[in-house]
Amino acid sequence: MSVIRQHLIDPEICIRCNTCEETCPVEGAIEHDENNYVVNADICNYCMKCIAPCPTGAIDNWRTVKTPYPLVEQYGWDELPDEQEISDTEVTSSAEQAKEVEANTILAVAHSGEGQVLPPFSAAHPFINIYTRENPAIARVVGNYRITEPDSTSDIHHIILDFGTTTFPVLEGQCIGVVPPGEDARGKPHQMRLYSVASPRDGERPNHNNLSLTVKRVVTEENGITTRGVASNYLCDLERGDTVQVTGAFGSTFLMPNHPEANLITICTGTGSAPFRAMTERRRRKRKHGDPGKIWLFFGARTRGELPYFGPLQKLPDSLIRKDLCFSRERDQPKEYVQDRMLTCADELAEWLRNEHTYVFLCGLKSMEVGVEAAFQKICDDHGMDWQELRRQMRVAGRYHVETY
Ligand SMILES: Cc1cc2nc3c(=O)[nH]c(=O)nc-3n(C[C@H](O)[C@H](O)[C@H](O)COP(=O)(O)OP(=O)(O)OC[C@H]3O[C@@H](n4cnc5c(N)ncnc54)[C@H](O)[C@@H]3O)c2cc1C
Ligand code: SF4
Ligand code: SF4
Repeated sequence: MSVIRQHLIDPEICIRCNTCEETCPVEGAIEHDENNYVVNADICNYCMKCIAPCPTGAIDNWRTVKTPYPLVEQYGWDELPDEQEISDTEVTSSAEQAKEVEANTILAVAHSGEGQVLPPFSAAHPFINIYTRENPAIARVVGNYRITEPDSTSDIHHIILDFGTTTFPVLEGQCIGVVPPGEDARGKPHQMRLYSVASPRDGERPNHNNLSLTVKRVVTEENGITTRGVASNYLCDLERGDTVQVTGAFGSTFLMPNHPEANLITICTGTGSAPFRAMTERRRRKRKHGDPGKIWLFFGARTRGELPYFGPLQKLPDSLIRKDLCFSRERDQPKEYVQDRMLTCADELAEWLRNEHTYVFLCGLKSMEVGVEAAFQKICDDHGMDWQELRRQMRVAGRYHVETY
């Protein structure tokens, strides 16, 4: 009898973000309907390209099965089935045993990190998926402030959640899940949404069991119809004392390096600044006089008024963080995007990229990826470096990280 190690997606923690389907190089291996994301066992070739980009880890699930679960069955799941009992005697032929060993070897190699994005070597061990939809942590809102100018079109809030006596470990760079109350148009409970943690591991306020989020209120207008994003509007409208169901934490690679030599190039737009606020504050709290590592921030927004944390950011000393803020719609000023500013700093960026302690983090709108990639390519071309090879090396060394949404 033949057994296979089937690749499956955990419907309980999948946030239906489509990242895996976009990433998978095998046409049709991942598909979705209104309910679930699923993997087609007939087509998936265990290449593992979908594993690291998945923000929740929902995609990293495996079951040894005699007959693969068909797509139609996976679409109906609310949770993953338990591992089946398969005894050694049921795996009769040595050829089949060899196949099973081979599949497990592929998985072991893939999980060992070859070809995958890894966390920085000095990152702390992250705890993930401790709280689930079935068993969420309950947090209390202790602060909710708008952090963009009142007259700007971008409504971004700094929200502080307190966990009371519940242990909720997070690291800089991780996300949490928020489960909005109520049901969607199909009468199903709302899916959870992910939000990056904007405070360091020891709390928004040092040694307090709390964390902060940077949330943009999503409102879209199409054909005269206004649609308000479910979770972001729920969060931005919360009042002090309200409670929130929280899952996670999530993320095991986009993590802050902890060694003092680490240089961080952080590139973001809008709420993509959240993890960098966490990392910068962690560095501020922990750095010792003479520590060599530096932080460099490229931060893009349409205008000053739309840039979250504009005021507090100005007050951070250059010795802690170099700030390159770029605006694409500021009156009486030429349009400038983060990639434009990167090119004007090309010589220094090339020098940073040559340093084996430099880590690149990119977070924010998906649309910035192409421009930033082109800027790194040009900087390397002009400075005698092979960007494609450097980026590959940085990825496997846990030094190049992208989180866009
Ligand atoms: C790893 C990760 C980290 C993230 N971190 C952050 C963060 O730090 N801060 C942050 O603000 N966001 C973050 N996000 C994005 C966040 O998870 C949500 O996707 C975002 O807040 C929108 O969720 P929502 O429920 O408000 O919108 P949704 O209700 O999910 O709507 C999404 C879009 O679809 C449109 N839409 C919805 N229903 C309809 C309809 N019936 N007809 C037409 N259009 C419709 C909405 O107008 C909106 O444009 C992150 C995402 C990921 C994957
Ligand atoms: S392992 Fe490879 S083929 Fe399979 S679903 Fe993931 S990306 Fe696609
Ligand atoms: S959460 Fe992971 S499994 Fe779910 S759609 Fe996103 S990338 Fe795919």
